[in-house]
Parts: sequence; C-alpha cells; structure tokens
Amino acid sequence: MIHSINPTNNEIIASYKEHSASEIEHILLEAENGFKDWKTVPFSERAKCMNTAAEQLILRKAEFSRMMVLEMGKTFAQAESEVEKCAWVLRYYAENSEKFMEDEIIETDAQKSFVTFQPLGVILAVMPWNFPLWQVFRFAAPTLMAGNAAILKHASNVTGCALLIEDVFCKSGLPNNLFKAVITPGREVSKIIINPIIKAVSLTGSTAAGISVATAAGSVLKKCVLELGGSDPYIVFGDADIEKAAEFCVFSRLINAGQSCIAAKRFIIVEEVYSQFEEVFLEKMKSKKMGDPFDKGSDLGPQARVDLRDELSEQVHRSVSNGARLLLGGIVPETSGAWYPPTVLSGVLPGNPAFDEEIFGPAAALIKAGNELKAIELANMSSFGLGASIFTSDLQKGEHAAKYLVNAGSCFVNTFVKSDPRLPFGGINESGYGRELSAYGIKEFVNIKTVFIK
Ligand code: NAP
Repeated sequence: MIHSINPTNNEIIASYKEHSASEIEHILLEAENGFKDWKTVPFSERAKCMNTAAEQLILRKAEFSRMMVLEMGKTFAQAESEVEKCAWVLRYYAENSEKFMEDEIIETDAQKSFVTFQPLGVILAVMPWNFPLWQVFRFAAPTLMAGNAAILKHASNVTGCALLIEDVFCKSGLPNNLFKAVITPGREVSKIIINPIIKAVSLTGSTAAGISVATAAGSVLKKCVLELGGSDPYIVFGDADIEKAAEFCVFSRLINAGQSCIAAKRFIIVEEVYSQFEEVFLEKMKSKKMGDPFDKGSDLGPQARVDLRDELSEQVHRSVSNGARLLLGGIVPETSGAWYPPTVLSGVLPGNPAFDEEIFGPAAALIKAGNELKAIELANMSSFGLGASIFTSDLQKGEHAAKYLVNAGSCFVNTFVKSDPRLPFGGINESGYGRELSAYGIKEFVNIKTVFIK
C-alpha cells in the first residue's frame, strides 16, 4: 500500500493499493491505443480539452488546493495560486501549440523540403511532490497538445493529487485512456521505462532519481528530460537596493516552506554591504510565521515528510559542525509532524554542506564575497546550475553578468527566479538537461522530421 500522510500531524489520510504489473501493462496498452487516434486529432480539438481542463481546475480550485495542503503541507493561499498557474499553462498551450508545431520550410535543392514535428507516442512523467499540480500540468499540457499520450507516476506521498489530476483530464473531453496515473513506488519506475510502449521519459526530482531514470532510459536508448535539484545563488552587489534584495531573498527562500528547486539557497553578498544585508535579512526571516497551512496568517507550513525534515535538520547540524554560525532557527520543534523553522546560517564557505549540497527547506546560507567578481566565482562553484539571481542598480552590469558570467539555466536580475509558461525552464550540470515550457518545451517529445521532395 502507498500512504498519504498529513505532515502537520503525521497521521495517515488515505492508503492506495499499488497497481500490479499486469494492471500497469493494461494502462500502457490503452494509452498506446488512444495515441493512434489522438495524433490525428486537429489542434483546435486538442485545445478544447485543455481549455475545459483549465475551467475544471478553476471551478474545483478549493478541492485541489485542500488536497495539496493535506498531502504535503503548503499553505492554502500558495496552493490556490498553484491551481491558477496550472490553468494558465493549459490555456497557454491551447492557444500557442499549433503555431509552435507549424512545419518549417527550408530552401534547398529540393522542390520542397521542410521540417515537421510529429508526436512520439506514450510519454512517462515521473513527478515530485513539491508542486504536486504545477509540475504535472507543465509537462502534460505541451505533451498532450503535441499529440502524445501521457502516463503519470507521481510522488507516492501525493497520490491523492495524482488521481484528481487524472479526473480533471478524464472530464475534459480527452479520451479516457490518454492521461493515466500509475500507482507504484519509485523503485519500480525502471521497469516501466524499459517497456517498449514508453517512448520517452520526463523526470522532475532529485539528482539520485535522475541518475536512476537516465540509466534505465539509456539502457534502452530512450530520450529523457531531467529537471533536477539546484542550489541557486542570489548575488547581492554593493550598489543593490538592500531592502528590496532582502525582501526577494527571504520570499524565495521560504516559498513552499523552502521546498522549491528554484528557491534561493546560497546568498552571496559583497563585503561592503554584507553587515547591512545580514541585519535586514535576519529581521525579515524572524518575522515569518510557521503555522497551520490552512491559516491565512501562516507564511509557511511544515515540511512535506518527516524523513525529509530529518534530513534537512541533519544537513544544518553538519553545516554548523563544519564551521557555519547558526543565527536563527535550526531546532526541530517537539511536536508531531514535519515542522522545521526558518533558519539562517552565516560564515558559509565552499566545502560546507550548506554550500555544496541542495538545502531543500527553509534554511538560508549567507556567504561573504570580497568583491563582485569573487561573488560570481562563488556562485559558479556548484555542481548544480538551475537558476540564479543578481541584485544591482546597474542594469547593464546585471545583464552582462546574467548573460555571460553566471552558469545556470536561467538568471534573473533584481527579482526572484520563477517559472513562466512563456519562458524555457531547465538546468545545466547536475540540475539536469532538456527544457520545459515555452516553444522549446513542446519540442522535447516530438520527432523533428525532415521531409525532402525532389
Ligand atoms: P525524488 O525523491 O527524486 O522523487 C521524485 C520522483 O521520482 C517521485 O515520483 C519518486 O517516486 C521518483 N523516484 C524516486 N526514486 C526513484 C528512482 N530511483 N527511480 C525512479 N524514480 C524515482 O524527489 P522529491 O523529493 O520528490 O523532490 C525533490 C527534488 O526534486 C529536489 O531535489 C528538487 O530540487 C527537485 N525538483 C526539481 C525541479 C526542477 O524543475 N528542476 C522542480 C521541482 C523539484 P516515490 O515518491 O515513489 O519515491
């Protein structure tokens, strides 16, 4: 059985029977059959299903938000925003997919030669619990609009969300076998990947899961898109608006109780403004309230699972034993549930766990840099490369550093890193490869086919 556990009190909410191997085979076969018709359905018809799914989401916003809060503990207000963003991505691809997938005529010595984009078939999505809806819809909308079928293997602790998503697609006019959730633990995923019906796989999750998925996919030569972890640097230059920079830094560290791949994780501040930044940042972190995620006054709820909270606590302890100074938090409350308070570490250096590892929770690492170039050097001293942010009042300098100097899949200036359906999203190095969202995302799971007519 797979259990959903409420992280506020560690009580079981629901238990789900795992699908057997033959049930999974049946689901895959049905999806493959569905794909044969769906790939010929015009974009306008596919778009209707996406728009209906978006309407459904908005109508059932409270139900979906409640399920996310119960299963993984994000605040209700953040859950509601997440539902709205999912409706946005569905509508975005409903409106733009036909244009993104138009044939491209190329002038050659042929009478006619062009590039066309054809769907691949049944695509497997292995998804994480931190944004239980957003991660799935941002995969599903382009994948289905491109003419593929999709199988969702969601994180086990958000199985209730997985089934709600399946229900929304089921009621959207999409053929019933085209988007299906399989209930199975992570250790069984490799068997699904090597099933010949699966044509490609998209994983959002940890680096360890990425290695496992890429190994299985590589063993049968299947494409994968990997959206993995990050340790995003937020660089504060001497000419930055410190108040504003600290506000964005705190927001980005604490959103989703710190459990976001693109959360600010390492704060690299140039020496001349370090003390000022530390003071403002610390005050703002102190002012944030951890509490019941259904309570409008709570800025953050618990962590998603007790084991993950314990891992986070252990990382903070190791960081302190390796020389970091604990300025705030760092103590696990003596209540049941996966609670962990806003935490600030200072004096963090390369080699310290808070610098080298992904800290997936509300613990911030403050790092002092001698000057701007040193700050960028420190930012790039990471095995990850997902997002980054730079705060400066010199926009030209910010743009230059964002474009040429910082190694990451995206670099924002004077604001926090966020995903947006219109912009490609993804990382480099151990943060993975491939892109989601935008015109780039929809082309990940298609055959980019050349047609040459002499
Ligand atoms: P996780 O433990 O890697 O789990 C992610 C998914 O992979 C779950 O469905 C999980 O299933 C499955 N899984 C686990 N081990 C597997 C294996 N060996 N082979 C195949 N599948 C496996 O990650 P998480 O704790 O849910 O999510 C947090 C991580 O995701 C963080 O590192 C975060 O940075 C990253 N993330 C990245 C992005 C991005 O876009 N780059 C976005 C969000 C999160 P079970 O639940 O059944 O184990």
